[in-house]
Amino acid sequence: MLRSVFLAAAGSSRLERLVESAPVSRGVVRRFVAGSGAEDALRTSRALADDGLAVSLDHLGEDTETPEQAQAVRDEYLMLLSRLREAGLTPAAEVSVKLSALGQKFDPAVAVEHARAVCAAAAQAGTTVTLDAEDHTTTDSTLEILADLRKDHPTTGAVLQAYLRRTEADCRELAASGSRVRLCKGAYAEPESVAFQSALDVDKSYVRCLNVLMSGDGYPMVATHDPRLIAIAEDRARWFDRSSDEFEFQMLYGVRPDEQARLAADGHTVRVYVPYGRQWYGYLMRRLAERPANVAFFSRALTSRK
Ligand SMILES: Cc1cc2nc3c(=O)[nH]c(=O)nc-3n(C[C@H](O)[C@H](O)[C@H](O)COP(=O)(O)OP(=O)(O)OC[C@H]3O[C@@H](n4cnc5c(N)ncnc54)[C@H](O)[C@@H]3O)c2cc1C
Repeated sequence: MLRSVFLAAAGSSRLERLVESAPVSRGVVRRFVAGSGAEDALRTSRALADDGLAVSLDHLGEDTETPEQAQAVRDEYLMLLSRLREAGLTPAAEVSVKLSALGQKFDPAVAVEHARAVCAAAAQAGTTVTLDAEDHTTTDSTLEILADLRKDHPTTGAVLQAYLRRTEADCRELAASGSRVRLCKGAYAEPESVAFQSALDVDKSYVRCLNVLMSGDGYPMVATHDPRLIAIAEDRARWFDRSSDEFEFQMLYGVRPDEQARLAADGHTVRVYVPYGRQWYGYLMRRLAERPANVAFFSRALTSRK
């Protein structure tokens, strides 16, 4: 119930304007978002890398509506990748990109062109790009664009969402040699026709998908904070004899940092997804939807004067 309220709020541009302009949200934003500019992204990446963690940087923003906005997003990524390289932070830091931020909603061809430029800049900087997964209406288009990008940039990563009924089949398609696949539960409000609705069904789907990816020839990126799924992934990695450079764990910045450190200390590769930028509203609403305790944290920030 609460989840659907926050996911509905994530799509409201009126609420977005209200909340983004309110200084009250600062505390909670700081927990999940590195800061507003590339400088903050670099500083956070350095700190995480010093702690033995890998990073995927996401410039916040989605569903751009004009060619100018999409171009600005592309330019931000090009600048970021060049600064990461100068700072010696590649290959530890890669980037995550939302195709809707690059224009997918108004012209997929524009998104492809910009994504190609970002992939080329990443290759030049010695790192990789992962295409985030958005709502299910974009999945076909995103996977088509991914296949296209992989012709020139085979390390481009995909994200598959275990809550979608189609995902086990997509995992089979993508569990091929050299293919990087991030498996997550999924963060959008999706109808029953396309997505499992109960937490149990989503978890079961996650495990089926994990089996496909771990037994396949690709590089699985296990994106979850769920202790049971993490334990199952560790077990499957042992079963399929995968060493620490043959799969990785991924978690969100600010979520379960102790667990991130524990897995890294155990010798696993752990990548932290670090968002930065001013358009944090949709991202934050999805984090609030995931965990009621974060709502209490958000309410305290709203009533605090700091
Ligand atoms: C690296 C990464 C990239 C992602 N990329 C995408 C993407 O491209 N597209 C997409 O749809 N989704 C993406 N997600 C989000 C994902 O789909 C889930 O919504 C999110 O990870 C929560 O699911 P969970 O697997 O952690 O399990 P849950 O069942 O939600 O959580 C399990 C436990 O983890 C902890 N936890 C989970 N979330 C939070 C939180 N927000 N704050 C504090 N504790 C928490 C709690 O202890 C909770 O009990 C990504 C997630 C990660 C980690």
